[in-house]
Amino acid sequence: MTVKEIKAKSILRKHKRIDSWFVSRYGMNLYRGCTHNCIYCDGRAERYQVEGSFGDKVEAKTNALEILRRELKPIGRGAKLKPSYIMLGGGVGDSYQPVEEKYQLTRRTLQLLYEYRWPVHILTKSTLVERDIDLITRLNEQERAIVSFSFSSTNNETSAVLEPHVPPPSERLKTLGFFKRKGVACGMFLLPVIPFLTDTPEMIEESLGRAREIGLDFVVFGGLTLKIGRQKEFFFNSLRQKYPELLPKYAQIYEDKNVWGQATGKYYSQINSLFNDIARKYKIPRRIPPRLFKDILSENDFVVVMLEHLDYFLRLEGKRSSFGYAAYAISKLNSPLSVMKKKLRDIRGVGEKTERIILEILESKKSDYYDSLI
Ligand code: SF4
Repeated sequence: MTVKEIKAKSILRKHKRIDSWFVSRYGMNLYRGCTHNCIYCDGRAERYQVEGSFGDKVEAKTNALEILRRELKPIGRGAKLKPSYIMLGGGVGDSYQPVEEKYQLTRRTLQLLYEYRWPVHILTKSTLVERDIDLITRLNEQERAIVSFSFSSTNNETSAVLEPHVPPPSERLKTLGFFKRKGVACGMFLLPVIPFLTDTPEMIEESLGRAREIGLDFVVFGGLTLKIGRQKEFFFNSLRQKYPELLPKYAQIYEDKNVWGQATGKYYSQINSLFNDIARKYKIPRRIPPRLFKDILSENDFVVVMLEHLDYFLRLEGKRSSFGYAAYAISKLNSPLSVMKKKLRDIRGVGEKTERIILEILESKKSDYYDSLI
């Protein structure tokens, strides 16, 4: 492994609107590249511009804290920053990959987030996150912290092939149990499940069963994308070595013309429906539950996330809704919804039912309809 120290010009990644998967408006990559080197990692894709051989080389943004101090302000005092979780993880490098032991950029960022009173959502595959239990519990008591781990499955043997350089799922689950016992909300990102390997009913059932045993607060699910170029080539080369018999099946569901690397809609419908049935059986929330963000977000963002969740729950059932359109239109508004109560129907995508739901959310920070779907 080679580590290159670099000076970044900016750190904070600002989303155009609230991201309802992570309930976050802001994220960051403290490292570029990832020596965890999971064979399916989409950080390899050319569009992320990670230079060199992915998996062998990592860039550490050694001036990250200095820049973050300028970009972030204490919550509530940042002129243009809106309250949400700050997302640590995902993107193009795990925040707790081995290089973090030396540079401690993630730990120092947590210290800054505590100082500035921001809630934090950590997503990792590394049990090194336990090192920061002191800070994470303090952040949780002050505002809130969520610790999530990503899994392609909870099966140790399969994981050893797909993600050989991270702690096995059994260790990741132990760490989640450890944080749960400390009172920190925890989630599983069962994402991506790998076609014909970890997307089977047995594997998904096993993963959700483990999530339930530990009492995880939610499971977020998603399928694999394979972007044409480095990511797809690396994955297919690995597949050729380990599971050559699967290649023809992959050719059927991943067509080269999809620029986002998505599999066919039919395939995603099948696995989403499978996940939905099992998650409902185990009564596990399929998105971050509102109790974990209702006191954090602005009222418009809260409504946006709730409507996007509703749209997702209905899509999982194979139904279409206009909640997604309404959420998008609301995310563009400059006025708080509470001063537009009589004009909600003027918003694109808001009909009678959506209006009722929005008014209920504004009134009580909950929705009976949402509760009925979970
Ligand atoms: S841990 Fe995440 S960022 Fe790192 S290689 Fe694996 S999938 Fe990619």
